[in-house]
Amino acid sequence: MLEVSGLSVSYGLHRALEDVSLGVGAAEIVVILGANGAGKTTLLKAVANTVPAEPGRCVVLGGRDVSELPAHLLVEEGLALVPEGRGIFGELTVRENLLLGAYPKRARAGEAATLERVLALFPRLSERLGQTARTMSGGEQQMVAIGRALMSNPTVLLLDEPSLGLSPLMSGELFAALGRVRETGIGVLLVEQNARRSLAIADRAYLIETGRIVGEGPAARLRDDPAVRRAYLGEA
Ligand code: ATP
Repeated sequence: MLEVSGLSVSYGLHRALEDVSLGVGAAEIVVILGANGAGKTTLLKAVANTVPAEPGRCVVLGGRDVSELPAHLLVEEGLALVPEGRGIFGELTVRENLLLGAYPKRARAGEAATLERVLALFPRLSERLGQTARTMSGGEQQMVAIGRALMSNPTVLLLDEPSLGLSPLMSGELFAALGRVRETGIGVLLVEQNARRSLAIADRAYLIETGRIVGEGPAARLRDDPAVRRAYLGEA
């Protein structure tokens, strides 16, 4: 569904990403694990083309080479990014925030049906459609942000640290919702600090260190790998 190869990004003289290649299939959750500053956010932004990558990369989405497309056209192709910090509009209602997500042409015609699907994925939002977004809890705001991205009718969803700052209970609800998103056939590329929870839900994982992919595999295997447990799950 999404195939990325040869992705490198530099900020001035600092090489933040070095020749990264990865893939996300339909109905698959893929998690990127790495320490602070490893390049995880940069990776998502470079895939979504909101930071410039170096020449030579290849991004294929649904079989189409989209390497040269600007960010807004990638949304039309079915790629949706939920940035860290959510970026929802606090003064607008939940419904208004969600409907803003349906701006791409690919989403407009099916807007009402997509809204129904999003509310089925996040039942908590259907009770709060008229509520001003800034008065929602952190976890609910994250659901609004993900719901808004889903309103663009994506085939691949990129999520940057969705559980950041959420209570364990709310994180659990969020990860359960991501499982339901996967059941709809959408591919999810997830950046997470919460390695334990994300490895529990993901199908596959990539490990990133100082801008390079240093490991990858089925999440179930990485969960049991002693080196991964020490480095990412905080075990002695
Ligand atoms: P975190 O988990 O702390 O958010 P991360 O793995 O997402 O970290 P990035 O935010 O991608 O890491 O940053 C990777 C590296 O690039 C870091 O060393 C960071 O300081 C640097 N960097 C990120 N954005 C910029 C920028 N706009 N200008 C200069 N350097 C940047």
